[in-house]
Amino acid sequence: MAMNEAKLLSSEAMVVHLAFLPSAGLGHLNPCLRTAELFLRHGCRVTLITPKPTVSTAESNLIALFCSAFPSHQLTQLDLNLSPLDPTQVNTTDPFWLQFEAIRRSVHLLPPILSSLSPPLSAFIHDVTLISPLLPVTGTLCFPTYICFTSSARMLAFFAHLSVLAARSPGAKPCSFIGDAVEIPGIAPIARSSVPPLLLEPDSLFERIFMEDSPNLTKLSGIFINSFEELEEDALAALNDGRVVPGLPPVVALGPSVPCKFEKASSSKNCSGSIMKWLDEQSAESVVYVCFGNKTETRKEQIKGIANGLIECGYKFLWVVKLKKVDKEEEEELEGVLGNELMRKVEEKGIVVKTWVDQMEIVGHPAVGGFVTHGGWNSLVEAVWHGVPILSWPHNGDQKICSEVVQMCGVGIWAEEWGWGSLETVVNGEEIAKAIKEMMSNVSLRIKAKEMKDAARKAAGIGGSCEVKIKRQIEEWTVEEGS
Ligand code: UDP
Repeated sequence: MAMNEAKLLSSEAMVVHLAFLPSAGLGHLNPCLRTAELFLRHGCRVTLITPKPTVSTAESNLIALFCSAFPSHQLTQLDLNLSPLDPTQVNTTDPFWLQFEAIRRSVHLLPPILSSLSPPLSAFIHDVTLISPLLPVTGTLCFPTYICFTSSARMLAFFAHLSVLAARSPGAKPCSFIGDAVEIPGIAPIARSSVPPLLLEPDSLFERIFMEDSPNLTKLSGIFINSFEELEEDALAALNDGRVVPGLPPVVALGPSVPCKFEKASSSKNCSGSIMKWLDEQSAESVVYVCFGNKTETRKEQIKGIANGLIECGYKFLWVVKLKKVDKEEEEELEGVLGNELMRKVEEKGIVVKTWVDQMEIVGHPAVGGFVTHGGWNSLVEAVWHGVPILSWPHNGDQKICSEVVQMCGVGIWAEEWGWGSLETVVNGEEIAKAIKEMMSNVSLRIKAKEMKDAARKAAGIGGSCEVKIKRQIEEWTVEEGS
């Protein structure tokens, strides 16, 4: 065999091939695709396994963009056609949680897909919501398995430590073994009021998945997370030195997630063009951006309060409203909910849209001076990446625990007295306007946000922590394959 041919064959054999399996909703899909892009940029081959059908149109659009951004010798996409799930058997009506469960119950379809991949897999990286059902599958196939954790390191510490708390009270439910506060070594205490409400609801699907999966974290080969040392130094240290849970695999902080090649193409596909044009006409840091993620519907009784708050705050604004959890179900016009008079006032001062927007691009626009968010982890890191001060209004799930992170490092404020946005009292316009003014005029918040932006750029830049960790990880897989 000629020398060059032998070299080529050996380098082909050493190609790192990764399979990614995301779960439902943009908050899960985005981190998975952004992590996949990181590895693709470093020369890995990727197979993306996409559960079908997807819940929202936004997900199928993003998957299509991702797949068209890379050549087929680098990226292959395969469908995982989900087994039908009888919703009456599952204790949730949330379409995204139903999809989590449908994927969990369809993992038996994976072995033929995974074992037939060529070259053989170096590692399998799947969504955090799929841990326990996938263990027997990946155990038989014998490749290292990692999760893409889709929240903060603080939330990971809470999730992992749950198994320690549960072991101290055998048979008890979180609603009874979680006291006034959860004390985790190395982590600022987490108040019971910040714990995801559904975890405290006995027999909810959320509770079942958390309780089942938390003790199995130690069986993984590693955990990838969208965070970085300057943002969550204490939590990352505590996770990695065994204080949170002994035997936890390496928690590899690959954050901050940066705007990716495949996402850029989305701007032309939605209303971003006209929004960006409007933003171009506004002065620097003068606009308030309001968006509660991809699956948080704003309650009808709260909509008027937000509209009044935005009108009264004195700033221009860009407000993205979702009236339904799933984008496909959006039918009602906002005008019908607000009434003509209020709608007219809203449109005098700002822009309101009910469509999907390219958030990363918007938050990065120089005119945006503050972000009112529900505290979804991706949204928070996107604000940090662009140095935009945050007003967090947690609505559900991990959002209070994540809001505490940005509050503790001084880049955001959190209106604690408002409670859970999806569940508790309706907040009036006056209070909302006051909190927005506080966010927009707080100088120390703006300075801290800029400092954290610099730290984020350093972490994601050439020679930064993200690159160092990616290279180390690829090297580890290459050595494993070579041995
Ligand atoms: N997002 C977007 N456009 C929208 C709504 C959401 O690009 O109109 C993106 C946002 O940038 C983020 C993700 O969807 O990356 C939402 O994730 P997050 O963790 O913030 O919240 P979730 O929607 O999961 O509650």
